[in-house]
Amino acid sequence: MRVAIVPGDGIGREVVPVAEDVLRRLHPEWEYFPVELGFGRWERCGAAIGAEEMRALRDADAILFGAVTTPPDPDYQSVLLQIRRDLDLYANVRPVKGPGFALTIVRENTEGLYSGIEWSLPGSACTLRVVTETGSRRIARYAAGLVRGGRLTIGTKANVLKSDTLFRRCAVEEAEAAGTAWEERYIDALCLDVLMHPARYDVIVTTNIFGDILSDVAGHLVGGLGTLPSANIGDAHAFFEPVHGSAPDIAGRGIANPVAAIRSAAMLLNHFGYTDGAAAVDAAVDAVLAAGVRTPDLGGAATTAQFGAAVLARLV
Ligand code: ATP
Repeated sequence: MRVAIVPGDGIGREVVPVAEDVLRRLHPEWEYFPVELGFGRWERCGAAIGAEEMRALRDADAILFGAVTTPPDPDYQSVLLQIRRDLDLYANVRPVKGPGFALTIVRENTEGLYSGIEWSLPGSACTLRVVTETGSRRIARYAAGLVRGGRLTIGTKANVLKSDTLFRRCAVEEAEAAGTAWEERYIDALCLDVLMHPARYDVIVTTNIFGDILSDVAGHLVGGLGTLPSANIGDAHAFFEPVHGSAPDIAGRGIANPVAAIRSAAMLLNHFGYTDGAAAVDAAVDAVLAAGVRTPDLGGAATTAQFGAAVLARLV
């Protein structure tokens, strides 16, 4: 297996090496190779990513990513959006686990309000919300495949938006075809209910911007950004990253919480069928947190490196 290691910028450079150490501990036989992209590369050569880096990502079986800082350039195009589009990473998967609940938000990653089709006119601006039958069916199929014993919750505004009526119909048909139990919720009510009754939910599937908002809302359930992992999955590529950004405010101080990055590495293991390894990593993180080793964002005094060392010590 070939794993691209992409620290990016800011605290990505601090948390990704910790997650890489965890993968190397479990799989020293895999090939790991670094790919440089982001603000640092932009400062050096005027572009955040080049053809060579894109090729390297395409050649990898899996990508472990940190975060990128947005360069101060009005013409800058998001590296992440470019990678998601080029590698067709259509499923953004965000598990949110806490005491008594474990839900997964699956967000459509390639269309919806982030279709990129927009224009400005004098006195107005338009953004096209594109929802296709193909896009809706494949994300619904993927999400239905993650349901284990619970049900698929379909989050939409199908009562108002035609594009969501289509998404809802496709999702319902795919859930039925997969034999998966399903329910539907309007996304606004769902945001509130997830906070009040997280244990009611198993897998939630929704469109691009609604999933973006819902997953940040759900982050409130688990004590902040430093702990939330995610995956971007396509049929041919898989990309794993913490939900948080490059956190310029704390970068370089060695205090970033590596939990989100380590749990992203666990998602990588899980995705490729190494479920025992994934469970061992998650259990090691849980045990270290339970022992009171925490970075400052969680009220502790541990450094990024100390937390990483404590996790590795439990993985022998
Ligand atoms: P970007 O522009 O790259 O998204 P940002 O600062 O706007 O950066 P985040 O990087 O997500 O957004 O950070 C939001 C806040 O959460 C910051 O105050 C940051 O310090 C904190 N934060 C994010 N990730 C972590 C982490 N892993 N450990 C500790 N604090 C974090």
